[in-house]
Parts: sequence; structure tokens; C-alpha cells
Amino acid sequence: MNKYKMNINIAWLKRKRDGLTKQLAGIGPFVDGSMAKVKRRCGNRNCKCYLKDEKHESYYLMYKVKGVTKAVYIPVDLEDEVREWNDNYKRLKKIIAEITRTNKEIIRRHVKEKRLKKGRK
Ligand SMILES: [Zn+2]
Repeated sequence: MNKYKMNINIAWLKRKRDGLTKQLAGIGPFVDGSMAKVKRRCGNRNCKCYLKDEKHESYYLMYKVKGVTKAVYIPVDLEDEVREWNDNYKRLKKIIAEITRTNKEIIRRHVKEKRLKKGRK
């Protein structure tokens, strides 16, 4: 056990956890998955992608359902918004991971800290 871990206790862990829980409430809309850029031709023979050989760049949101990869096309005017939702989801996942890690640490320390408190009486 390192020095840092020696100095933390359950009260400190709970404060940390409650702070993180408050952060959860501040997170806006979110969506899972990852954005993948796809270059394609639209099929229109009057379009620059046909005339100039410049492919369109568009985004798909890739996600998995029971291990099967799915994709949903993201309309151009929604790209920025979806990117923000996706970033929110990543933040959400980080916070959730940290809360669960903190709660496990609380569980781990519970008995030990109770004994320490008894010993002080
Ligand atoms: Zn085109």
C-alpha cells in the first residue's frame, strides 16, 4: 500500500463519490458508440463526387447490440450535436467507472476502519 492510499479514509471516499454523483446530473444528452468517417459517392452524376472524383465525407455512428455491430447514418446538420452527445457518453462512462471504483474501495475498507474506530475507544 502506497503513502497516498494510507491517507485516504471512508469519509474522504464518500465526499469524492458524492462530488462525482453531482457531476452525473450535469451531463447533457448522450449516445453510445463511436463516430466513423466514411467516404462515398452519392450516385448523382451531376455531383462533384462524380465530376471531380471528390468523395463525400459522412459519418456513421457505430455501436454494438449483443456483439453485433450496427451503424446509423448521421445527417450532416446533426454531426456536431451527435459528436457532443458521444463526448458526453464518454465522460459519463469515466465518471461511472470512478464512482464504482470508489464504492468498491469503501466496501473494502469498511471492516478495517470500523475496527480502527473501536480501537480508539
Ligand atoms: Zn455526390
